[in-house]
Amino acid sequence: MIRAIAERVRQGKRTISFPKGTPVVPDRLRGLPVIDQARCTPGCSRCVDVCPTGAIGLVGQKVSVDIGKCLFCLDCVAACPGGAIGFSQDFRLASGSREALVYSGGEFRPACALEERTRRILGRSLKLREISAGGCNACEADVNVLGTTVFDLGRFGIQFVASPRHADGILVTGPVTANMRFAVMDTYHAAPPPRIVIAVGACAISGGPYIDHKEVSNGVDALLPVDLYIPGCPPHPLTILDGLLRLLGRL
Ligand code: SF4
Repeated sequence: MIRAIAERVRQGKRTISFPKGTPVVPDRLRGLPVIDQARCTPGCSRCVDVCPTGAIGLVGQKVSVDIGKCLFCLDCVAACPGGAIGFSQDFRLASGSREALVYSGGEFRPACALEERTRRILGRSLKLREISAGGCNACEADVNVLGTTVFDLGRFGIQFVASPRHADGILVTGPVTANMRFAVMDTYHAAPPPRIVIAVGACAISGGPYIDHKEVSNGVDALLPVDLYIPGCPPHPLTILDGLLRLLGRL
């Protein structure tokens, strides 16, 4: 016990200063796409051809990336001869609007706060019941990371609870497989209103790599109204935290 306390003292404060400070992100983080429409080669559709989830739209020469479908695999970056597509390190990808996730460059519309009345009901806390609806455990792992001392989700009054009866809403990962549909709907209805719904990861938003498979629902918004979409495969914990804080009007 003494050794554990001594180790904690030696390590000092491990919690990141986000949202007050700018967080240090890993070099490999792939965030908001960078699209240079002027560099798109006429007649070329290689990015569309290589994309495994159909995330790229090409109308004429106008390229867009649906970051709700994107797996951030960078195949499109490698395939593009003109260098029209890249990925920045901007982790702020969460949005309340599915349409806003179809991004073609310029300003990105991030998540807005819940309406005042809902925030008044929630007060200073948000309790969520997590549902893994056929996920591979990557999104689940990055959600769990928020509970570590580094992110310390509890300091914002946000907690994951065991029972939907104690929850303000549900946080869903995975493409919602056929055998999880009932569980998702039952858990949602067990939570008291206003029942917030948060979709985390490409699978929960659009079906991800399983899109259009007969055993999946192509995301949770096929079943329920979604208040917050958090893209990524999986989303970085900062992307999830940023989205949650925006939803609560803390950013
Ligand atoms: S990075 Fe996204 S848009 Fe590009 S090929 Fe991969 S899934 Fe498609």
